[in-house]
Amino acid sequence: MSERPTSPHRSGNGMIVNVNPSDISDIVGRYAMTTPAGVEAAIGAAAEAFGPWADATPQERFDVLDRAGTLLIERSREIGTLLSREEGKTLAEGVGETMRAGHIFKFMAGEALRTTGDHIASTRPGVQVDVAREPIGVVGVITPWNFPVMIPAFKIAAALAYGNTVVFKPSELVLATASRLHQILGEAGLPEGAVNLVVGAGEAGKAIAGSSRIAGVTFTGSTATGQAVGALCFATGKKVQLEMGGKNALVILDDADLDIAVRSALEGSFLSAGQRCTASSRLIVQSGIRKRFEEEMIGRMKEMRVGHALDPQTQIGPVADDRQLCKVTDYLEIGRQEAGRPVGGERLRLETDGYFLAPALFTDTDNRMRINREEIFGPVATIIGVDSYEEAEEVANDTDYGLSSGICTTSLKYATRFRKKSRAGTVSVNMPTAGIDYHVPFGGRGKSSYGPREQGRYSIEFYTETKTSYVYSG
Ligand code: ADP
Repeated sequence: MSERPTSPHRSGNGMIVNVNPSDISDIVGRYAMTTPAGVEAAIGAAAEAFGPWADATPQERFDVLDRAGTLLIERSREIGTLLSREEGKTLAEGVGETMRAGHIFKFMAGEALRTTGDHIASTRPGVQVDVAREPIGVVGVITPWNFPVMIPAFKIAAALAYGNTVVFKPSELVLATASRLHQILGEAGLPEGAVNLVVGAGEAGKAIAGSSRIAGVTFTGSTATGQAVGALCFATGKKVQLEMGGKNALVILDDADLDIAVRSALEGSFLSAGQRCTASSRLIVQSGIRKRFEEEMIGRMKEMRVGHALDPQTQIGPVADDRQLCKVTDYLEIGRQEAGRPVGGERLRLETDGYFLAPALFTDTDNRMRINREEIFGPVATIIGVDSYEEAEEVANDTDYGLSSGICTTSLKYATRFRKKSRAGTVSVNMPTAGIDYHVPFGGRGKSSYGPREQGRYSIEFYTETKTSYVYSG
């Protein structure tokens, strides 16, 4: 396996020290970890704030969420820069993500006003039946580092819109960004205790998932951790929503527009350094286009600029931390043993000392290889050759995951069939598998997700319970 890169001081003495992955001499911040008693206090504060927030008028909830959205949009440059400095995605991606978080808050503000119930005729004479939506209570929000503003935004905004309060435990790698988001909610007028920030790693997450005072946990992260969170939630009788890994296929058929196919593959596989659960990691390419696709893909991949996240020329920033670097280089070694040398994949030494990797492509792989079965979560893609559409469909669906998939084709017949047959929560045609809208459902199948979908009005399923009332009026 690869040589373990030396880690800068990241935690110790109850403190978490965050560094810039583009330049590990740049300390982004130092944060005191919340003690176990502090986690309990945060849960207690959310429980206390729940009654008043659940009873607030939809207009009051709208106003707070809408203001939070406005502040995020107004400050997207500043927060986006902090995000890119802390997480390593490019400045354009950091600013774009913050803008999107603002739009999410504004959309969910509207949901507070749009929440409805049902009035249904009873099967019994003289009886009225009403189905109302009620908030579930205190929601534990456990989030990863790869979208440090957007993922917390779609969970927290939805929780608040429907009248819940929140204990928010962001990833320990992105505490500067998470703190700014928390601060903005206060500035927007959110009542004290409605969202409580917990600073910590896995232990803090476990305390939240195991707490009897929390009604539900929404989690995004790795499949192994998600499954542990799910088990704890089940054992302690709470609702759970899990967004986990992906091993997403992008099918490229002989009749594809070559430019669209290559662009979709490059963006889907390598933007955000491939650290997206929707990244296109398996490129399933039909034999007639394979040679042209490979040549074009390799040529354009080599031109992609890897560099400091805050350099405006950069297209691919560093991977997020030393553990990620280690994990990805380990998989590159596994891939070398399984499929020979990749194109790219070198550790890059640039002007600043950061976790830079050239994007990597394994050009001749088989779907049974580990690099095609396990989520790598880095700038690494593979090519799997196929001879027909039917074979491509079978290979695309032959995975434990099922988050997103895509097909590049000019055939209406195959595009339509793939949309129907793909066993994934999101399907794209002539677009990368990554890159989603915020007002439509998001989530997957198999080991990718568990529980109701996130985003848009579909999020009501997780963040509310229905109550059915029967009234006999004589
Ligand atoms: P990554 O380390 O790649 O971000 P994880 O799935 O480990 O992926 O982490 C996602 C989130 O879950 C983070 O906020 C992390 O601190 C938290 N976490 C890690 N381990 C646990 C656990 N056992 N229980 C609850 N939360 C956890």
